[in-house]
Amino acid sequence: MAKPQRGFLLIADITGYTAYVHASELEHAEDSLRSLLNLLIKHTRLPQIISKLEGDAVFSYAVDGSFLQGQTLVEMIENTYLAFRQALELMIVNTTCTCNACRNLGSLDLKIFVHYGTFMLQELPVYTELVGNDVNLIHRLTKNNVAEATGLKAYILYTQAAINRLGIQEELGQLISHRESYDLIGEVEDLAGFCPYASLRGASQDLSGLKPRFYGRTDHRRAHSRQNRSTA
Ligand SMILES: [Zn+2]
Repeated sequence: MAKPQRGFLLIADITGYTAYVHASELEHAEDSLRSLLNLLIKHTRLPQIISKLEGDAVFSYAVDGSFLQGQTLVEMIENTYLAFRQALELMIVNTTCTCNACRNLGSLDLKIFVHYGTFMLQELPVYTELVGNDVNLIHRLTKNNVAEATGLKAYILYTQAAINRLGIQEELGQLISHRESYDLIGEVEDLAGFCPYASLRGASQDLSGLKPRFYGRTDHRRAHSRQNRSTA
C-alpha cells in the first residue's frame, strides 16, 4: 500500500500550444512541438522524476529530501527555461519554411509551475500516477489569470509552499506577488494555507547572458526581432 509522500510538484507547460496547433500546418507544428517537449524531458533531471506527459506539458515530481539544496531545483528550472528559449530562438532563426507552423513559432513560450505538498505515488504499467489535493492544486494553477494580471506570458510560478520549502524567501523581493482563488469546495481547509498565494519569477527580455537571474517576457514579437537576435 502506497503511503503519502511530500515533495515538489512541477509542471512545465508550453504556452500558446493550442492556438499554435490550431493555426498551423500540422506536420511542421508536430515536429516543432516534439523537439520542444523532448527538450523539456531532457532537462528534467534526477532527482526530479517525470510522472507523465500531459499534451503540451511535462508533469514531474521530486520526493522530499532528494534535493540537497532548494537552489539546485531553482537552477534546474531556470536552466530549463533558458534552454527552451534558446532552442526556440534557434528554430526561428534557422527555418526558411514559410508555412504557418514555422512562421508562428514565435507565439510559443514556456510557463513553469512549482508547488510543494503531499501526494501518493501509484505505480502503473507505463508511468507513475500522482494523486492528492496538491496534485490537483498544481494542475488548477495552470489555469490562472497571471497573464491578465501581470502581462507576463512566460513565467515561473512558485506557490508559497514551494518558496518556503526551497528556502528562497530572501529572494522574495525579486518576485512578483500574485494571488489566485479557486472554487475548492470541500478542500478549502486543507489548501487554504498556501493555495491563494503564489509568486512569479519575472523577467527581463535579455536572453543573451547564460545565467540570467530573471527572464520571461511580456512581448514575444519584440524579443524575436532581428535587432534583438544580432545582440545575442
Ligand atoms: Zn514549416
